[in-house]
Amino acid sequence: MSSLDERLIARMLHHRTGNLEPGQPVQATLSPASTYFLPGTPNAKHQYGRWSNPTWEVLEDALAILEDAPVAIFPSGMAAIASVFMTHLGTGDRVLLPSDGYYTTRVLVEKYLAPHGVEVELRATADYATQDLSGFKLVFIETPSNPGLDICDVAEVAGRAKAAGALVVADNTTMTPLGQRPLNLGADLVVASDTKALNGHSDVLFGHVAARDAGLLEPVRDWRKFVGAIPGPFEAWLVHRGLESFEVRYERMTSTAAILAERFSAHPAIRSVAYPGLATHPGHEIAKRQMTRFGTIIGLTFADAAAADRFIENTSLIVPATSFGGVHSSAERRARWGDKVAEGYVRLSVGCEPTEALWEEINAVLDALA
Ligand SMILES: *Cc1c(COP(=O)(O)O)cnc(C)c1O
Repeated sequence: MSSLDERLIARMLHHRTGNLEPGQPVQATLSPASTYFLPGTPNAKHQYGRWSNPTWEVLEDALAILEDAPVAIFPSGMAAIASVFMTHLGTGDRVLLPSDGYYTTRVLVEKYLAPHGVEVELRATADYATQDLSGFKLVFIETPSNPGLDICDVAEVAGRAKAAGALVVADNTTMTPLGQRPLNLGADLVVASDTKALNGHSDVLFGHVAARDAGLLEPVRDWRKFVGAIPGPFEAWLVHRGLESFEVRYERMTSTAAILAERFSAHPAIRSVAYPGLATHPGHEIAKRQMTRFGTIIGLTFADAAAADRFIENTSLIVPATSFGGVHSSAERRARWGDKVAEGYVRLSVGCEPTEALWEEINAVLDALA
């Protein structure tokens, strides 16, 4: 981790402690308020619960330090993504989306924006390098793509997109700010599902949008206020709590993932391993330039669906589940959702289990499969 990231994490952990009065709780307080004391001319900081909330603010302050940019929080990753599309796309606009990215993002645009005259173009993440970016209003990047873990060069794509007049939006869910900082690489907006590693405890759906240009974030905040798809204060409080141990969890998860990826590559039960940190990954050189960690997700291709299912079902330290980024390692065969991946492709989310205990258990199952 760079010393900048370390300073941001330390500041984030203490973002409230400098202002405490004697006797106040050290941990953030939960304010489940819909109404606020509001006599006379309404100019109080908080006026109504759909517009603002003290617990939201605590979390937005913490996330803004982590992102190094102002943040608006949302009740899910999709709510965050939708806010950007709904406020920055209109009739006649063209949007470029990854054909191999998070499926629901494509459905959202195709089902709800295309009928209103937004033109959608799909391109595989690895092919963004050769895509002509002229004429797009918005270029949406997801690298590594979920679930295939393909890579595109954020700085290169963002540079060309912006020269062509497009807004660049990066879904940074798979990496988090601790693994990759798209805003530093030229993206205008970052969207993320905090349901994954950032909250990390598999108990909240959540999301956020970050942008350094206030003119880009303001409409997103207004959207939240007028549409009313707002985060619950308790969920915001839980994410703030999760955030405080995020760096420690991410450290364990990414270092275990890097070790496991090497060992998987050497195991005969596995046909191929997709992990941006491996020299065999086609995007490895780009990954080294733009990622500070190589992430917590590993793509494993087994001989067939049956072998993949046996791996998932027989490894007791791996929970069969969709989603990723939780403290418990989990895995699923992505073809079960119709993703365009091999039948034997498993997306493994590496959790916080002690590395060798996890490997010992995985290795025994792999040996039985080989
Ligand atoms: C999970 C995920 C989302 C959606 O987030 P939710 O919190 O489930 O709404 C968006 N993008 C990516 C890359 C994801 O993995």
